[in-house]
Order: sequence, then C-alpha cells, then structure tokens
Amino acid sequence: MSDIIHLLPDSVANQIAAGEVIQRPASVLKELVENSIDAGATHIQIVIKDAGRTLIQVVDNGKGMSETDARMAFERHATSKITSADDLFSIRTMGFRGEALASIAAVAQIELRTRRTEDELGVMVEIAGTRVFKQEMIQCGTGTTFLVKNLFFNVPARRRFLKSDNVEKGHLLNEFYRIALVNPEISFSFFDGDEEIFQLPASNIKVRIESIFGKNAKKRWQQQLLTIETSTNLVRIHGYVGKPEFAQKSAIQYFFVNGRYMRHPYFHKAVLLAYNQMIQATESPNYFIYFEVEPQTIDINIHPTKTEIKFENEQAIWSILTAAVKEALGKFNIIPSIDFDQEGAVEMPVGIPVENVRPPQTNFNPDYNPFGSSGYKRPNLNWEDLYGGFEKKAEPMEASTIEWGTTESGGEILTYTEQEQQQVIDNIESRATNYQYKNRYILTGIKSGLLMIDQHRAHTRILYDLFLTQIENAKSVSQQVLFPEILELSADDALFFEQILPDLESIGFDFESLGNYSYSVKGVSSHTGTGSVIDLLLEMLHNAKTTALDPTTKIHETIALTLAESASLKSGQRLTAEEMADLIDRLFACENHNFTPDGKKIMTVFSQEELDKRF
Ligand code: ADP
Ligand code: MG
Repeated sequence: MSDIIHLLPDSVANQIAAGEVIQRPASVLKELVENSIDAGATHIQIVIKDAGRTLIQVVDNGKGMSETDARMAFERHATSKITSADDLFSIRTMGFRGEALASIAAVAQIELRTRRTEDELGVMVEIAGTRVFKQEMIQCGTGTTFLVKNLFFNVPARRRFLKSDNVEKGHLLNEFYRIALVNPEISFSFFDGDEEIFQLPASNIKVRIESIFGKNAKKRWQQQLLTIETSTNLVRIHGYVGKPEFAQKSAIQYFFVNGRYMRHPYFHKAVLLAYNQMIQATESPNYFIYFEVEPQTIDINIHPTKTEIKFENEQAIWSILTAAVKEALGKFNIIPSIDFDQEGAVEMPVGIPVENVRPPQTNFNPDYNPFGSSGYKRPNLNWEDLYGGFEKKAEPMEASTIEWGTTESGGEILTYTEQEQQQVIDNIESRATNYQYKNRYILTGIKSGLLMIDQHRAHTRILYDLFLTQIENAKSVSQQVLFPEILELSADDALFFEQILPDLESIGFDFESLGNYSYSVKGVSSHTGTGSVIDLLLEMLHNAKTTALDPTTKIHETIALTLAESASLKSGQRLTAEEMADLIDRLFACENHNFTPDGKKIMTVFSQEELDKRF
C-alpha cells in the first residue's frame, strides 16, 4: 500500500487557518486597522457595506509596501514585524504572526493598492481565495488601501453562520472602539455605506472617549470622568473612571495593556472594590483604564481572537489598581481638578460647599445633659401642638440633602400625612400606656387608633438631630478616655480625615495627631455606643468620603447619621416604661419625626376603623 500522508495545498491550509483568525467581518476590520497602525498611519478611514459582508475597506496614510512586499504580505507567516524568537519578548506592534492577510485572502476577494513615499509608482494586487488574479503598477497616493469584498464567498457554511446585520455591525463597532480608544492620536473616519458614523480627529484619550460615547450626551461625559494615574516600577496605570453616580447597568468598561484591548475579570474586580458601597449592586462604573508594562512581563502569545492577557505581577497590580481608582474617587471632591488636557476639560465640582450650610431645623433641647441622672430631661411638650405644627411645617424630607436613602417616594409621604396624620391630629388627647412589642416597636394607643414606632429608627432621628445641632454650634460634651486608641490611616484617608476633623470635634471627639497619618483618640462623643470607636471612626470616614462624591449632600449630615445609627437603641433592646415615654416625647420634639434622616419610615398608625374591621 502506498503512503497516505501528504501536505495540504496552501489554499486549504490557509482556509483552515482562516477559520481561527477570521470569524466574522469584525475580525477583518481588526486585522486591517491594526496593520495600518503598525504601518505608522496617522489617519485611517473605514468603510463598511452590508455590515461588512460585501465590503470592508481600510485606507491608511502609513508607510506603504514595496512591490515585492505587497505580494509577500499574503504568504502565511510573512511578517515584517519580528525576525527571531527573541523578538517575541519585546513586541511593540499589534501584529507579529504574519497570518492575518493570508487568512483573509483565503476567504475573501481582496484588492490592495499601496505605495511607499520613496516610490514613483504604487502597486495594485487582486487576490481571491489565495489566487492572485492581477498585479500591476498604478498611480496612487502614499499609504495602503485594502478592499475586502464578499467575505466567505467560498465558504458558504461560514457565511450562513454570520448573525443579523445589526449584530455584525455591533461587532464591527466594538472592534473599532477598542482600537480608536487606544490610539487617540490617530484620526479615524468610519462610514457605513455613504453614512458617516464617526469622524474622530486626532486628540487625547479623554476627548476620544467623549466623542465616541458622548455623541449625544457630551456634557454628561465631560462631567463624569475622573483621571486615574499612577506609576510604579511594575506598571503605569492611567486613564479615566466614571463618577459613582454615573454607574449604570450596562456600563462601558475598557482595559488596555500596552496599546491593546484586553479583558481582565480579575482586574475588573479590583476596580469594583474601589467603588465599594458607592454604587448599587446592580450597577457598574464606567472605566477606561490603560496599563503600560514591560512587554516581557505579559504573555505575548496572544491569539488574535483572544483578549485575555496574563500578567506576571497580577496580584501586585491588583492592589496598585484598586488604590489608584480609590484615590481618583476620593480625591476629586477635595482637590481642585488640574487637568492638562486642553480640550474638553471636565467641569468638576471642586470642594465641598461649606458656606451656605442650612441652619438645623430641629427642636434641640439645650438643657440636655447626657450625664444627668435620668439621662434626659423631658421637654415640656404638648402632643397636640406638635401634631398641629407638624401638619403645617413638616415637609417630606428634602431629597437633596440626603441622597442615599430616599426610598420612600414623595407620594407615600403625602398619603401618610394626609390620611393617617389627620386622624391623629383630630384625636389625640392623652397618652395611653406604652407597650414594647418584640423589643423592637413601641405601641401606643391614640384616639384614632394604634401608633407603632420603630424604636431604633426613632432614636436614630433623635440623635441625628442632636448631633447635627452640636456640629453646627460646635458645642458638645466630650468624654476623655483612659487608654486612647490609635487611628491609623492611609495618606489619602488622612487628607480627608483632616477635612472632617472639625466636625468630629464638635460632636465630642478629641484627637491628637501622632504624625505619620496616625491619631490618638483621646476623647469620644458621649454617644458613641458600645462598638469599637476605631471602627466607628473608619465608618464615618468612609461614609463621609462617599458623601463627598455628591456635592448636594453635606458631610456633617453623614457624620451625624453614622454616629446616630451606631449609637441609637438597637432593635431587641428592652425598654422601661419611662424610657419608652422619653423616647416618644423626644421623637415628637423632632421636627421631622416621621422619617429617619435617610428616609425610612419611623412610625405608622393603624386606624381605629381598620382595627374594628378585623372584629
Ligand atoms: P502581521 O501583521 O502579523 O505581520 P499580516 O498578515 O497582518 O501579519 O501582515 C503581513 C505584513 O504585511 C505585515 O507584516 C506588513 O509588513 C505588511 N502590511 C500589512 N498591512 C499593511 C499596511 N496597511 N501598510 C503597510 N504594510 C502592511
Ligand atoms: Mg497584522
């Protein structure tokens, strides 16, 4: 029997290889544009027709090819980019495998026109399914034009495998964004048939981002980008992250390494970590993050269709990344933005507006003495007055002052005040005995029905109003501690801490700076509760930092709320009759006794009618 193994003809081998490299029109676009970039082009024009099925045209003003190179370019493993295996470790070009053109030529009809500056004439090559149909010298400008027509004309199965025009166009655009975002100094134009989709002048990264994604919402994009920048001997990370309030369900997220798009789920988590608690779990921040590393520290063996890239120092870079993003988020509100990008500079709110602070609208009891034997001196209040006043005065919580918890809709607040409240007002005459239900709610009979108060929320409101007043008046009682604990902060946290220090001091904290971003906590607010003071301070710091991101919210309100929540009565805490009575009195002494500062309902009324119906 004769031998049966033989080498496949080039045309077949190339078609098989093409199956891997060229999966859809977008892969052709990627390969052609990357070649143009490698050729040093400063302007690249793209034209597609029928979602790339019938035409993908890429015109560049790069260095062009010689007559011989124009033919050689279509050979498999023909490349000008590397010459030896050593070069594999220092790749600075997009391509290096020398496979792309051979693959495209195996599955499409190609027309190439190219000329180098030094040549009088250019060359034109027509090739289809690996066969050269025509080659001639022509008059043309410097640079290279590729026309790729009738993709998969000889591979019907592949053609059928393509998705709808919209899906394929989506792929084309995605591929285009990935390249345009990392080459802002190159101008691009993108046409779908005769329609101009993009005209992107040479610019910088920020303007490029805005002109791609902010087409119809430029202002919005200008407002949301925060610069990140950090440089270590392992990596340089730069780019932009979106402010937390611009987070969205389908966020726009890009990582690039050494000028190449990459996916990196691990680094993605590092970014999310920096946004911890600033955004809802269902949302994700926009980001455009560029890594520059020594080429030998990443896996260069990147398959053309793969976008995952392996880093040598992944863990270290993870930490650097988180820190860089955190810094950008923490910094933007307290440090004026200095942006060296001339064009499209962002208008960022700078600093926290400390003046124009609204005076507290609370009925603060100036006689309050936390060290008094009963702990609280009951104000001489008349419920009826309070409720009467409430009807006129109390407004739904100002959504603008407290942003993060206004889950109760304005509508709900109205329903409550109109219906239930009216009944209460009409009927109150005397206070009934209070009953504590499940150590969590206080039930009290009122003439119009049954009032149920959440003790933790009620106390939070009371303390919040108190702390806010203390901060505003910078007057409170401090408890000196016997063994001061040490608060150790990072450099940027310390910077922020200094900003909130006066607020903390006015609610009773007393610090001594030990240098090196450390503070000795010498005195605490008389209300700090039983938890760890350091944890509480860190929580206040964290919440205040988050609040700082939103110029409409005031930092001292956040501090007051954090402390109030931590110090207030917990659910499950048993109360004596006296304590319940105190709590109710103090709650109704608060102007806004219906809702906690973050918008949670404190009390509800079961009307007499409702109760009667049940019997
Ligand atoms: P690779 O990019 O991996 O080298 P390709 O098959 O994509 O392989 O291209 C083969 C060669 O053709 C390139 O190395 C380059 O020398 C040349 N080439 C391709 N496109 C262009 C272009 N637009 N301008 C100049 N030279 C090009
Ligand atoms: Mg290439």
